[in-house]
Amino acid sequence: MTHTEALDAIADHSAAAQMRLLCREDNPNLQQRDKYRQLAIRLATPGAMAPVLEQAFNAGKAAVRVATAAIIGQPVLASQAEIDARKAICKPCPELVSGQCRLCGCSYQHKIRLATEECPVGKWASVPY
Ligand code: SF4
Repeated sequence: MTHTEALDAIADHSAAAQMRLLCREDNPNLQQRDKYRQLAIRLATPGAMAPVLEQAFNAGKAAVRVATAAIIGQPVLASQAEIDARKAICKPCPELVSGQCRLCGCSYQHKIRLATEECPVGKWASVPY
């Protein structure tokens, strides 16, 4: 499946319009563009899970964000209210498979507790400080 076929297949998804913009040929951030193209294909492919290498890469990036937040004095952990709000979104989400977000490969129990993390398709954001 190509990314354009995937974008057509997920046209009804809430994140589709933003993803279509990020996937455009004229997005100057090629790394971001390619990431969202892969994400669109995964979203349109039932049961597809983030590859293990990508999961490891995402975990590494999350660790860097946490370390950076700690170094510059920003909170690392989300508030309980934020955790509860994120949980209420993730738990019924069709992308949550066995406690793992199939789009990014993260354990949702860990992801929702970190202030620096966000949903890969924009259902919830990182905590603004
Ligand atoms: S992080 Fe986003 S896509 Fe993943 S399970 Fe939670 S709400 Fe769904």
